Amino acid sequence: MATAYIALGSNLGNRHKNITTALFHLVREPHIILEKLSTFIETKPYGVTDQPDFLNGCCRIWTDLSPRELLTTLQSIEDKMGRIRTRHWGERNIDLDILLYDDIEVNEPDLVIPHPDMKNRDFVMIPLKEIAPEIAAKL
Ligand code: ATP
Ligand code: CA
Ligand code: CA
Repeated sequence: MATAYIALGSNLGNRHKNITTALFHLVREPHIILEKLSTFIETKPYGVTDQPDFLNGCCRIWTDLSPRELLTTLQSIEDKMGRIRTRHWGERNIDLDILLYDDIEVNEPDLVIPHPDMKNRDFVMIPLKEIAPEIAAKL
């Protein structure tokens, strides 16, 4: 089993409900074990600032899915939840990003792991430090 860290974010509709629904979907996935969950924090939008505040957090999972299969699974959860893709970095009811997957590096056009720019994002690093301080310190 691999260990992966997933970032969850929402700034549209009922944010708590959206995060909870995404977690329910994750837990129901046969190839994913939800192992640890951070506190969810209210954060100011990043990049595109004229949009509502986010609720952000992260979780640690165990999975036997490959990084690519994990991305597809997360995207299918976003799709099931009716995510509408508007502007880049814009408002969304749910966003699920792969932050880390073991020590693996992936550099493909549509999949980059570790997630680029994560070190510069407090809304990623604060929840990650909470659940994995030793890993966050090494980044
Ligand atoms: P950011 O990735 O900078 O946080 P975003 O989450 O707003 O931006 P999206 O519109 O949700 O970006 O996704 C754009 C594309 O990013 C996805 O279609 C996916 O292929 C790609 N992508 C690349 N690396 C990752 C990753 N580690 N986790 C999730 N998606 C990724
Ligand atoms: Ca994102
Ligand atoms: Ca995303």
